[in-house]
Amino acid sequence: MFANEKAVVVFSGGQDSTTCLFWAKKHFAEVETVTFDYGQRHKQEIEVAAGIARKLGVPQTVLDMSLLNQLAPNALTRTDIDITQEEGELPSTFVDGRNLLFLSFAAVLAKQKGARHIITGVCETDFSGYPDCRDSFIKSLNVTLNLSMDYPFVIHTPLMWLNKAETWKMADELEAFEFVRTRTLTCYNGVIGDGCGECPACKLRRAGLEQYLAVRGHGASSQGAEGHA
Ligand SMILES: [Zn+2]
Repeated sequence: MFANEKAVVVFSGGQDSTTCLFWAKKHFAEVETVTFDYGQRHKQEIEVAAGIARKLGVPQTVLDMSLLNQLAPNALTRTDIDITQEEGELPSTFVDGRNLLFLSFAAVLAKQKGARHIITGVCETDFSGYPDCRDSFIKSLNVTLNLSMDYPFVIHTPLMWLNKAETWKMADELEAFEFVRTRTLTCYNGVIGDGCGECPACKLRRAGLEQYLAVRGHGASSQGAEGHA
């Protein structure tokens, strides 16, 4: 697609961003990653991301975003706050403006690296209520970033319209299914691969995996146009 160009992947070491990293490696000549250290509950998340980047031979920049915790103490960073979600409300993992900040910092870094492509695994389909994961926000930010730095950034969101099962399918098509399944960290309790099975992230991941595995053996399926669960 952009065979001679360079891309920066916003990378956390989880299922979604690791799938995006494989997608980027397929579509771009040169790929780097940027990982944000914002005092995650599990420091391990940074180590997992670093290990994957090393394994795949892509450079990684870790940016200190610990100020996020100062602005918005929340369940992702504070072990004394439980991960909960009340009906109709944002989950307690929400940090206002997190993606806005991450993508803006990623863009500054990408320009320094001579990359105009930025890849992020945000998704509107399994929508948790994060407004800065919506497609309309990403398109708006893309325009703003281009104006702010007078640079032709393109933000790519390969997972935007996929459900979790379709994200597994994409990993499979990229020949990364086992890698993503066994090496990534999605679990809020810090358990790599299939996770603890109990936290909201594990439940979402497992539901998608089971849904995908249920259809996987049934031969070729149409690209991308399957109904959303
Ligand atoms: Zn878990």
